Amino acid sequence: MFVVKDNFYHLISDIYTIYTMQLSDIGLIGLAVMGENLALNMESRGFRVTVYNRPAAGEELVVERFISGRGKGKNFFGTTSLTELVSSLARPRRVMMMIKAGTPVDDVIGELVPLLSPGDVIIDGGNSDFHDTARRVKELAARDLYFIGMGVSGGELGALEGPSLMPGGSPEAWPLVRPVFQAIAAKLEDGSPCCEWIGRGGAGHFVKTVHNGIEYGDMQLIAETYSLLKNRKQMRNEEMAELFEAWDRGELNSYLIGITANILRFKDVDGTYLLDKIRDVAGQKGTGKWAAIAALDEDDPLSLITEAVYARLLSAMVDERTEAAQRYGSHAHTDSHIRTEDLQEALYAAKIVSYAQGFSLLKRASVQYDWDLDLGSIARIWRNGCIIRSVFLQKITKAYEAVPDLKNLLFDTFFSGKIQSSLPAWRKIVSEAILSGVPVPAMCAALTYLDGLRTLHSPANLIQAQRDYFGAHTYERIDRDPGIFFHTDWTGVGGDTTSGVYTA
Ligand code: NDP
Repeated sequence: MFVVKDNFYHLISDIYTIYTMQLSDIGLIGLAVMGENLALNMESRGFRVTVYNRPAAGEELVVERFISGRGKGKNFFGTTSLTELVSSLARPRRVMMMIKAGTPVDDVIGELVPLLSPGDVIIDGGNSDFHDTARRVKELAARDLYFIGMGVSGGELGALEGPSLMPGGSPEAWPLVRPVFQAIAAKLEDGSPCCEWIGRGGAGHFVKTVHNGIEYGDMQLIAETYSLLKNRKQMRNEEMAELFEAWDRGELNSYLIGITANILRFKDVDGTYLLDKIRDVAGQKGTGKWAAIAALDEDDPLSLITEAVYARLLSAMVDERTEAAQRYGSHAHTDSHIRTEDLQEALYAAKIVSYAQGFSLLKRASVQYDWDLDLGSIARIWRNGCIIRSVFLQKITKAYEAVPDLKNLLFDTFFSGKIQSSLPAWRKIVSEAILSGVPVPAMCAALTYLDGLRTLHSPANLIQAQRDYFGAHTYERIDRDPGIFFHTDWTGVGGDTTSGVYTA
């Protein structure tokens, strides 16, 4: 560890040490939960890592605490400045940031740029907005530097033992960082890493955004299932834990189903269930919202994930919820005919729709931004290490391997078979929930999406007529070729002038 010395002798001594020391393979900035664990993961795979965290005023230095704590006796080099960090790295230098997204990332990049040389690589592993990443790739390219925006998923344990990694940005930098990231990533049964090149510009962070959106959807569907089991079947925590465990051994097997069983069973220090004491207000850090916004930007109906975001927002409206519960009464706590087997089918079917929507958004964005995303490979990267890991993802990879340009996952033979067979149970569950006033927005949105998709004659003819009636927005006719637009003077007092046909 280099500490700033206050006399010339010590300065010379530090400079000498810098020039004679072993250079590090990678530098890591940001020693919060993710950075610390990623650094330990890298070191455990044989890489020498220089670590840095901005000094915290008046507190013990974060770097010092790490080097003398979890990093003790390991191949780390702790630094107290970015200058030291950069000068400790082998060339081309690889500097990874694992810090709060937004302005902090731009600030740190601003400090790093004058210290780096052409061909060096900056990697942002935080949850950054993909638009920012695309901008940073361009800005740094103008300075002959490479930039990688990499989605990292797996939480604390994943970062330590093997996360799922989604790198995108400057393609020239991929061979320079690949050995490190494929070494630290989670592995599949055949040993292949859950880390593959995603695409140029903001592609990596976009895919991470959709991943997080899907995570919101999965969590919401599980929460709705828990709500129905608890409120409509009056199941106890232990019984629910057993049910989730059983599901985890079958086709619903996934990390989130598995941890739900553990959470349901977890006891507080006083021996009562901790879950029952947790306030019912869901937090969020923005990635679910970004997925919903991206979907609107791409004209793609990502209804289930968007409902999951809304459900979190609604949970936070505590005052209004309290008043509404008094005014309208909370939902009914009666016993019901809900069968757990039906609930399992409904959960699985809604999950299929959620992934179909997420992959549809990826497909649209891929065309829009010219990313050439490999959807089967993305499903494969998510199969281990990340929060949405599940056996289910293998089916998605298979679907895209069989038909690479599949229009919609719901058209894959396996998934359409599952949807068909689950539909009666799914409808029963959603109807029961609506009749008894238990909110199931995600399960319902999934069903509505499916019904909307399979409706050959939608009521949009009426919407077109209304638009033309009040605003002369024109319409197409089924007895004429598509692309020819008509306007009718519906009231007899309108003129022939029409509004332009475009999508804003
Ligand atoms: P936080 O999101 O809490 O970020 C804290 C880190 O950012 C600290 O090292 C902090 O330094 C640093 N930081 C904050 N502001 C600045 C700034 N202005 N300049 C320099 N550094 C700054 O920690 P996490 O480890 O949870 O997450 C790191 C990144 O990884 C985030 O972008 C997060 O969204 C993403 N991520 C998090 C996951 C998780 O499960 N937690 C999973 C996947 C990605 P200091 O200690 O000095 O405040």
